[in-house]
Amino acid sequence: MNKLADDCFNQVEDLMSTAEALAILRQRIVAVTQDQLEQLPLRQATGRILARDIVSAIDVPPHDNSAVDGYALRHADLSQDSTSEFTIQGRSAAGHPFAEPLAPEGAVRIFTGAVMPDGADTVVMQEDVEATDGIVAVPPGLKPGANRRHRGEDSKRGDMALRAGRRLRPQDLGLAASVGHGEVTVYRPLRVGVFSTGDELAEPGGALPIGAIYDANRHILMALIRSLGADVSDLGILPDEAAAVRSGLADAARDHDLLLTSGGVSVGDEDHVRGAVEDLGHLHFWRLAIKPGRPLALGQVGEAAFVGLPGNPVAATVCFLRFARPLILGLAGATDLEPVLYRVRADFDYEKKAGRREWLRARLDRKPDGEPCAVLFRPLGSGIINSLVQTHGLVEIGEDVTRIKAGEAVDFLPYDEVAS
Ligand code: AMP
Ligand code: MG
Repeated sequence: MNKLADDCFNQVEDLMSTAEALAILRQRIVAVTQDQLEQLPLRQATGRILARDIVSAIDVPPHDNSAVDGYALRHADLSQDSTSEFTIQGRSAAGHPFAEPLAPEGAVRIFTGAVMPDGADTVVMQEDVEATDGIVAVPPGLKPGANRRHRGEDSKRGDMALRAGRRLRPQDLGLAASVGHGEVTVYRPLRVGVFSTGDELAEPGGALPIGAIYDANRHILMALIRSLGADVSDLGILPDEAAAVRSGLADAARDHDLLLTSGGVSVGDEDHVRGAVEDLGHLHFWRLAIKPGRPLALGQVGEAAFVGLPGNPVAATVCFLRFARPLILGLAGATDLEPVLYRVRADFDYEKKAGRREWLRARLDRKPDGEPCAVLFRPLGSGIINSLVQTHGLVEIGEDVTRIKAGEAVDFLPYDEVAS
């Protein structure tokens, strides 16, 4: 079975825009995790992707109740222009309702979250009244229905609470609980295997031979993937050697839904990933009109989907966040694939070529007027890992833009938006 809807990455010769690439991902990627749904208690479901809609089993709140500590009464019993006196009939505390109906000109001592007694429609706050000897004196001016929360004002029985495809955030679990669900049905986690490629790469913590660098990409990428709720396998470093790359990918394809590599996909003599994927399945280069990041390699190795990211750490990270991330979320069953971009003010001048989209790393600062503005990190090079560390996110500059002047608004993608 081809999990990616029959060679779905097969596309065009020309440079592809980011919007086109994302549209293709959105349309053609299907969840590959439907074979093994899991039933989980809420406490284990954070970050997982809901596979079945959650419908509210009840009205929330289930009863009209008080929003404050005070006295519940019938608004019609209040005088418009002078203090009214009410006889205190009893008490309604949270979890301990007052069982009798409200008597004429009666009031019930009530606390936040307690059920409104039958016949009461308004609550006066305890700070606003005087209560002595079983009588409460209420000044005029209270609005009808004041301080009363209505049954079903949050959720109504039968409401769609959470739709399948949603990645469960803490507040989603709270909503599921409030409407009566102790468990949720979620997709099994996507299994993603991550390789680095290159003879120059060494494992951090070990010796650094002459000419070597420590492998940084794998650690960025594995952590990013884990933050999306997927299961990640650390598949190590593939050498620049055709046979080893081919056998490494072929083995890993057996027990992963997606294989992700970085480096080794340009057309240099030592770039063997491309040939290996072509041999084992199919490979498509999407020549994206983007910077940083040149071609993005997508394809299929046996049963597994394949993504080949650029080798430079910044390019690998940007391509991951903008392209691999929606792909991973889609394969995992999520429906909300793309992040929200925010408009902030540029604190820099910048010139670029028309026709491609660019991402610059920037720190967010607040101007004295309170507006957030993006301060560019320099140097701009796509190998500068510090440019990712000393910043809050990416300024995304569209294809049509050729220059930005300080003070203009730009799109900003905070890392927190895409890595959690
Ligand atoms: P490549 O696409 O394999 O030619 O790699 C492009 C650049 O990225 C080279 O300078 C590589 O050394 C660097 N690079 C590739 N993979 C990694 C990695 N895992 N960590 C850090 N730098 C890398
Ligand atoms: Mg390489």
